[in-house]
Amino acid sequence: MPETALMPTLRLLQVAVPVPMFAVFDYSVPESFAMPPIGARVSVPFGHKTYVGMVIGHPVDSSLESTRLKPIVQVMDTKPLLPDTVFNLLAWAAHYYHYPLGEVFSVALPTLLRQTDSLDNILTAWRVIAPCPVNPDKLTERQKTLYNLLKSQGNQGLSQPLLLSQNTPASVLSQLTKKGVIEPFELSEHTPQQRLKAKSALLVQHAPLTLNTEQSQAVQAILPHLEKFRGILLEGVTGSGKTEVYLQIMAKVLARGQQVLVLVPEIGLTPQTVGRFATRFKTPIILLHSRMNDAQRLAGWQAAHHGEAFIIIGTRSAIFTPMAHLGLIVLDEEHDLSYKQQESLRYHARDVALKRGQLEGCPVLLGTATPALETLRLAYTDKLLHLRLTERAHHAPPPVLRTIDLRAKKREGGLSIELIKAIEKTISQGEQVLIFLNRRGYAPVLLCESCGWQADCPRCDAHLTVHHLPGTHLECHHCTLKSKLPPACPNCKSVNLMPTGNGTARAEEVLQAYFPMVDVVRVDRDTTSKMGSWDAIYAKAHEPKPLILLGTQMLAKGHHFPYVTLVGIIDADAGFLSSDFRAPERTAQQITQVAGRAGREQAGQVLIQSWQPDNVLLRTLIEQGYHDFALNLLSERQKSALPPFRYAALLRAESPSAELTQQFLQAAVVHLQHDIRSKFIEIWGPVPAPMEKRDAVYRGHVLFLANERPVLHDILRGWWPSLLHIPERKKVRASLDIDPQELA
Ligand code: ADP
Ligand code: ZN
Ligand code: ZN
Repeated sequence: MPETALMPTLRLLQVAVPVPMFAVFDYSVPESFAMPPIGARVSVPFGHKTYVGMVIGHPVDSSLESTRLKPIVQVMDTKPLLPDTVFNLLAWAAHYYHYPLGEVFSVALPTLLRQTDSLDNILTAWRVIAPCPVNPDKLTERQKTLYNLLKSQGNQGLSQPLLLSQNTPASVLSQLTKKGVIEPFELSEHTPQQRLKAKSALLVQHAPLTLNTEQSQAVQAILPHLEKFRGILLEGVTGSGKTEVYLQIMAKVLARGQQVLVLVPEIGLTPQTVGRFATRFKTPIILLHSRMNDAQRLAGWQAAHHGEAFIIIGTRSAIFTPMAHLGLIVLDEEHDLSYKQQESLRYHARDVALKRGQLEGCPVLLGTATPALETLRLAYTDKLLHLRLTERAHHAPPPVLRTIDLRAKKREGGLSIELIKAIEKTISQGEQVLIFLNRRGYAPVLLCESCGWQADCPRCDAHLTVHHLPGTHLECHHCTLKSKLPPACPNCKSVNLMPTGNGTARAEEVLQAYFPMVDVVRVDRDTTSKMGSWDAIYAKAHEPKPLILLGTQMLAKGHHFPYVTLVGIIDADAGFLSSDFRAPERTAQQITQVAGRAGREQAGQVLIQSWQPDNVLLRTLIEQGYHDFALNLLSERQKSALPPFRYAALLRAESPSAELTQQFLQAAVVHLQHDIRSKFIEIWGPVPAPMEKRDAVYRGHVLFLANERPVLHDILRGWWPSLLHIPERKKVRASLDIDPQELA
């Protein structure tokens, strides 16, 4: 007699649980629950806690004895939470980045979905009741805004998640309902197809610009690729009108009833980007970024997921947003380092976007003036369609770049007399100036002029920075340490303590002293941490009167400052001297991007202060431009067999002791060498990190390089999970970074 006839059949689930283990776990489903489908969330006991996990399989059998199988606690979704494409994308990410599947789901989901509440599956929408029973002029501002928004959407209305994600307060919804102006209805009244059709008819475009020849060639080259996956690099010099190309391609995609996902590097960029998109398209735009609260994020996520929202603009993690009818991904400023997540799941949103495009069968448009070398190589090997815009859209001449030789020159706050004179002239012509100094604070060093002592962070291998606000104090830029200024040198008791070197705050002081009649606006992390501070900066920069903008790399990103005609770069050399092999690439991108802020609408000039004005790299960049500079760098990378010509992974470790860190890394290398295939891998290290001690831990790393990506990944796949069990591992924190962007 078959055994199964005696045993009650077990109902089994395989669940990815968000714990740092490379395993998935079997659970049983009690009779009282319906079987959850693959892709549903369930809460499960694990250790002494309950976790929200993702069902990834319905096994018929388990290696666990039935008595050891634990039952699930709760079923949170009766339908799969994610579309297959995103489910598969996350599975790919777990595999590619060697990260536990359960934790990948957890990283990619909005916070509220990682908790045990179930989602409301009934989608409510709102529409206006015609005719309006009250005079719309009698409504409050907020009521009027909502009324107009809903009215513009006709009988299709807008879904509740979409409205909430647009900052519509629930109270305004109920006020208007009471007045009989609007009414709720269940979205299931219309099929998604009907809704889409009706909505796309509403996506009326406002005033597209007449494209110039290069732009229209780019658009024509992209249009044949809307039906399927194609990676596209739009390499256009700053001011060449890449955004107009995005907008016109987007219009075509929207007209097909499809959605567009736009990724931007940082939140500072979103207000401006959103503004340009919002004036072009009628449809509400969903924003997804880290400064939104959890409820707004979830609402935006749902609106995208259900196909209610057509345009989603977000930062890095928005790449995981499920979208019912995704037709295009645009990734602006593709070279930007903020696309790389530097903790937990260390993914690169550009690479994830390309994978997603493959899975969704839609084009992925990467735009930049300064492509990453990885991206350029993909373009030159035909993996990407390569389109170029070589001229500025307005036919404003490209800015003129000149160096200022700093040797034996007097400076104040880092500014040479030559630069100050140029600022004076620009201001007197009623124009604006942008000064770039990638160092915040007042002075990067506090120096004793009697004995040479410098104030260092006790927790880091770094000097403390002098800050003046609030009150004069010292701050470490690498940990959270803040301390008072010592009254005298702790070494020799001298009171000759001198803030040395220049940060943005000191440059601001000097500029304000030279130009008391002009607004000096400092833009760095200290001044832009508040929500809305960017709006104020833009408002100032868009008034046609003299202004000095002064800031860190925040100013280097795609901003449009129409009245800036002079850009000054205070310290161009710093980056070319760093030991990281990517430093020249990064520095050139930064200089080119900052320079690109000059003369967007009138002729502009860029003055680059340098101690080494004859530096070959700097000269190539100035005389030949970023593209040729990048091609030179690529051939150097090829000669030295570095990425993107080889594939890299970085093992990082940290612990309270330098020895323990190095011992672990050494053990990890030995462990790898047990695999005979390790002869295909070049191993650099272990070495201490460039800043070995940071926040009281000692950091180190090993770099692995291989000619073939599959070889590297195959070896890592066996090795990395097994490292969890070596004894040295217990004393350190370790991480594996695939395609690392920084050797730090
Ligand atoms: P990029 O993103 O390539 O740096 P932008 O898209 O910001 O450039 O465009 C720079 C400026 O040129 C913007 O003010 C934009 O409105 C304008 N512009 C773009 N395309 C055109 C065009 N075809 N005709 C006129 N102005 C244009
Ligand atoms: Zn001293
Ligand atoms: Zn520190």
